[in-house]
Amino acid sequence: MAKIGIPFEIEIESALHVGQAPLGVGEYMFTQRHIPGSALRGALAEVFINQYSLKPGPGSEFNRLFEGAEAIRFEPAYPATALKWGYPFPLTARQCKAHGGFPKLDTPQAERERYHGAFDVLVSQVVFEEQLGSGSVPFIEKPLCPHCWGSVEPVAGVYTWDEDEGHPGVASDVRLVRHTHTAINRARSVAEDGMLFTVETMEPGTLLRGQVWVEPDQVERVRGALSTIKRLGRGITRGRGRVMVDPLPQESNDGTLARIKALNELIQKERALYARLAGEAVPPPDGVYFTLDLLSPAVFGGGVAATLEPEGLNLSFEVNLVRRFVASEVVGGWWNAARLPHPTALAVKEGSIFLYKAPSGVNLEGLSRELETLRAEGVGHLRERGYGAVLPCAPFHLWTAEKEAAR
Ligand SMILES: [Zn+2]
Repeated sequence: MAKIGIPFEIEIESALHVGQAPLGVGEYMFTQRHIPGSALRGALAEVFINQYSLKPGPGSEFNRLFEGAEAIRFEPAYPATALKWGYPFPLTARQCKAHGGFPKLDTPQAERERYHGAFDVLVSQVVFEEQLGSGSVPFIEKPLCPHCWGSVEPVAGVYTWDEDEGHPGVASDVRLVRHTHTAINRARSVAEDGMLFTVETMEPGTLLRGQVWVEPDQVERVRGALSTIKRLGRGITRGRGRVMVDPLPQESNDGTLARIKALNELIQKERALYARLAGEAVPPPDGVYFTLDLLSPAVFGGGVAATLEPEGLNLSFEVNLVRRFVASEVVGGWWNAARLPHPTALAVKEGSIFLYKAPSGVNLEGLSRELETLRAEGVGHLRERGYGAVLPCAPFHLWTAEKEAAR
């Protein structure tokens, strides 16, 4: 049986640093701008050990919760709002180089025009490439800012999505502060070797949203344990990383079916544009398209073979990978409960996109159920450590330059 999602909210109460692997002397330690699943996993494992007195070991309750097929899956927690999820921008998101970004919730009306927003080029790019393959193309596909016709750049960070209105927005502000630390060597009156460093932190007030996926019989227990997490990240002994974790009501339907339909309508609409220009009839749909958008890095091929593509999605019908937009990185980590480093692996970054095509006759309700199962189970390896979190048909793909122009 598929896992069940427990969404939760995290409020940062004291400066929070969530880093990568430890760095060397005099280093600047950047914080992540979100809380990765691995940090949540470490915090929850400590709750189960310290407060629920579970002991790690083969065949133990603890291992069932944290290792293997039945283990809890952690999605990253991204800056969000009180009502909406925050998602990482897909790699196909573009924004105006000069005036990119959406206005904040409290931006006065008079100043809102200064924000030229962002838009997605997935559908326009893919349909353009399709036309290239079919012969003559009357113009070059070069995305420009739909507000000032200036050049655009990829977008970093997080967006929220208004499901009712169908438009993107900004998430809770992440304010960053740098703290410089030294330890003085009393004999020589200089900074102790390796003890002069700057730590960047996320400041209190940021609101994030995440989700864990658990076996149906673990829902109540994990929900309870989540709400007892009080600390996250590094520097806990210095008073850093105080958080409040609030489990939210379960969500019954995440709108997957509607997003699949909308994506396919958009593809057909874009094709119709080219057909009109060429004075031809619009070709009928050649299949059902859907995307898998990575919410966290994913490790494919065991992280050893250099594959950047999901293998074995276990869907009940054949699908073709039409196009992928991927960025890679090397990941590692620290497993606090075991006090051991994880080996490093090649991973595909969050924001990466895989566009698939299913056969025309596929049942849409069935397809969306299977994609919801993929969301619950994740893709690739090391899923229990927070890798391979996936969102089917990220809503931002629906936000075209045309819609941005009319915002
Ligand atoms: Zn612009």
